[in-house]
Amino acid sequence: MSKGQPVDQIRAAAAAGQVSFGESRLQEAIAKQAQLADVEPLDWHFIGRLQANKVRPVLRHFATVHSLDSLELARRMARIAAEENLSPAVFCQVKLRPDPAKTGFEPEALRACWPELRALAPLRIEGLMTIAPQGLERAERQALFADCAALARDLGLRELSMGMSGDWPEAAAAGSTWVRIGSGLFGARPPN
Ligand SMILES: *Cc1c(COP(=O)(O)O)cnc(C)c1O
Repeated sequence: MSKGQPVDQIRAAAAAGQVSFGESRLQEAIAKQAQLADVEPLDWHFIGRLQANKVRPVLRHFATVHSLDSLELARRMARIAAEENLSPAVFCQVKLRPDPAKTGFEPEALRACWPELRALAPLRIEGLMTIAPQGLERAERQALFADCAALARDLGLRELSMGMSGDWPEAAAAGSTWVRIGSGLFGARPPN
């Protein structure tokens, strides 16, 4: 996760072989992408709350979106992706434990709309994304990540976006395919 990090840090990581970068603020990301246009090919992931009115620019600037959190948003994304002739990779964000700070599909809600979601061409729904609530014990995080992996398996999804600097070892042990490490790689984010 390169959100909040200056372009020089991304350039250094890219020189060391890192290709995929996650950003959560659209304007910041667009500015950085423009400054990094000479570094090819970078693979940009949008990982943050996605407002309906930002769908078009997000799809234009990111090949992958990790934060699809409602059927309504999915329908809108599919319509706009078709208009833009894009087929974005998408992760459904799931909320496996109560967490007032986070959005996401609850598992039963996701299962209920799954037949429609999976058919929403040209979206390519590849996996699930989850964020562990603050303050869980290690064993609780292990259980949460295992639940996410089991749900993905049930739905036939191969990719799992889970794990941040503070909990990536448990996420990786549970089968994460995309750990989202920010401060653990780049150091603390500079203040805004
Ligand atoms: C910022 C962020 C991360 C990275 O967090 P770190 O603790 O710095 O590794 C991962 N996932 C999401 C959704 C984020 O917003």
